[in-house]
Amino acid sequence: FQLNNADLVTLKNLGSGNSGTVSKILHVPTQKIMAKKIIHIDSKTVIQTQIIRELRILHECQSPYIIEFYGAFLNTNNTIVICMEYCNCGSLDKILPLCQNKQFPLPVLKKLAYAILSGLSYLYTTHKIIHRDIKPSNVLMTHKGEFKLCDFGVSRELTNSLAMADTFVGTSTYMSPERIQGLNYGVKSDIWSMGLMLLELAKGVPVWSDDDGDNSSSDHGGPEGILDLLQRIVNETPPTLIGKINPVTKEPYDALLCSFIDSCLIKDDNMRKSPWDLLEDTDGFLKGVVAGEYEKDVKSWAKGIRKLHKDKSEGEK
Ligand code: ADP
Ligand code: MG
Repeated sequence: FQLNNADLVTLKNLGSGNSGTVSKILHVPTQKIMAKKIIHIDSKTVIQTQIIRELRILHECQSPYIIEFYGAFLNTNNTIVICMEYCNCGSLDKILPLCQNKQFPLPVLKKLAYAILSGLSYLYTTHKIIHRDIKPSNVLMTHKGEFKLCDFGVSRELTNSLAMADTFVGTSTYMSPERIQGLNYGVKSDIWSMGLMLLELAKGVPVWSDDDGDNSSSDHGGPEGILDLLQRIVNETPPTLIGKINPVTKEPYDALLCSFIDSCLIKDDNMRKSPWDLLEDTDGFLKGVVAGEYEKDVKSWAKGIRKLHKDKSEGEK
């Protein structure tokens, strides 16, 4: 079916990031709940049309680990509208504060890592797509405890247009050292970002927040802070959980988790593993995930998160 603005009723705002604003909507003709992303682009109509054309490949991206795409269209006043599957537990950055101890439980981290690797592997092997923007807000969860990727770089023109609009768009603290340095980068760049993200979710605080005193403390707000941070990612030894004590449990972190994260945070991308290499290692951190060993735990945990989400939005009314 063809999507157009007249058929969409906005239900609530879900948040906004560098590139746009996302809301929960109802598509009236099909009675389907969707997420709608609005992106402002000040480029020529030919470019905008090209972006819409490039986005069409999203129709072919079908995987349980990828957010389903319903369609995209150009709107008046230089906006591009993208409609996609709505995930009712939201993104991981919004879930983290709801977790007990503000940390993701180990079984959830295992299932999450498996889902991200499967999603990355699917995108690359089937469509030659590199995600390019793995971070907690671009991984979504359903009430069934399924994890799905969104906002990957399918459209070259869209990426270009966004980059031109603001120097710091696309510059994220999850970026790999090779990418920060402007070197060639590939699918392993996403593995770095995933490693950093898992570390953050396990620990409960952003990796570069200088909380554990082993980093120089400086203000990371504003461009100067970001540049300082980027040079640290390139120059310092990568962050690790090995040898660290979990301040909440007062115990060391899970050994398999530590070594899994370390293998993602290898600075030299030649030495870093690819998504399929990591998936093949079924005797390490990911052991038991495919067999569904953690399915029940993660499902009931997700149910709890869903309830907290609901209570929270009731409270806001
Ligand atoms: P960012 O990813 O940088 O936070 P976005 O504009 O991509 O910015 O998204 C804004 C917020 O909207 C996200 O943080 C996420 O919580 C929410 N969101 C995005 N897509 C969906 C979706 N399909 N379902 C539910 N929530 C979503
Ligand atoms: Mg996003």
